[in-house]
Amino acid sequence: MTSQPVPLPTTTRASVLLAAGELAVEERALTPPAADEVLVRVASVGVCGSDVHYFRDGRIGDFVVEAPLVLGHEAAGTIVAVGGAVDPARVGTRVSIEPQRANLTSAETLRGRYNLDPDMEFYATPPIDGAFAEFVTIQAHFAHEVPDSVSDDAAALMEPLSVGVASARKAGLTVGHRVLVTGAGPIGLILVQVARAYGASEVIVTDIEPSRLETALRLGASQALDPREADVTALGVDVFLEASGAVPAIRSGLRALRPGGVAVLIGMGPDEVALPLPVIQNRELVVTGVFRYANTWPTAIGLVRSGRVDLDAIVTGHYDLDHVREALESTSSPATLKSMVVPG
Ligand code: ZN
Repeated sequence: MTSQPVPLPTTTRASVLLAAGELAVEERALTPPAADEVLVRVASVGVCGSDVHYFRDGRIGDFVVEAPLVLGHEAAGTIVAVGGAVDPARVGTRVSIEPQRANLTSAETLRGRYNLDPDMEFYATPPIDGAFAEFVTIQAHFAHEVPDSVSDDAAALMEPLSVGVASARKAGLTVGHRVLVTGAGPIGLILVQVARAYGASEVIVTDIEPSRLETALRLGASQALDPREADVTALGVDVFLEASGAVPAIRSGLRALRPGGVAVLIGMGPDEVALPLPVIQNRELVVTGVFRYANTWPTAIGLVRSGRVDLDAIVTGHYDLDHVREALESTSSPATLKSMVVPG
């Protein structure tokens, strides 16, 4: 059997953010993959809170949209072409995209934490285009192969799962830990499952939305509480994973820790928050954050393949490229967990 050479696409449809609140679908020129890259036909892309921020405000902190930008950084698809230095046998492989490009010789990369590389280029972070497009390129080593048992949506959501894995590692989460997760949005619901997979004996979740608390229980939480009714400060948990960005959740979560406990602040709240310093000092709490992830994809794929984490369970809607606005706006409804864009 001889295989027919498939002509490479020279253009790609993409949803482009022109300015805050202004989106257009454009046919854009496609640059062929560089020597170390692969070209991926995008099958599914998750909508993230950061995409919504760029869409609404045109900026996140110091990152400002000054030129047209393609959003979307939680992506998966199939390799359709490879650069000159990549094994051609990879064409046809289904992959989850790790949407970053580090400077391999920066001090942080050499220390093993390439996520902290100050020269990092990251999808959908100005000026780097993201994946709300039919085709994207990525370096071959960050196109992670996924087994057929993993859906396109789940393959795309290895990205937020990676945030969960990075958080669990940062917390030193291990067998028998009691864990408090504040916020039962997509990240909180992933954290519940990751905490279970890492061996937590108890996972207590708080959120003000009853439907989200129900989902948390279904995905393995031992207790789901409305923080307006329940006081968490006497829990004495080993680990506190903050995924709401809500100031009262941050403050009460720190008080919920046992002496020597660890807090990982993941949710995006106000830039500055008053913290109970005597609690942190007298209990010798460790308070830290996570900035994206490094070396998490193999772990994330293993968690999904083995059934320890269910990512399809948090998908609540699908939108095509012509409806990216609706996908972004859908996130303001509490019934929405994860909206997916399907560019094909
Ligand atoms: Zn994300």
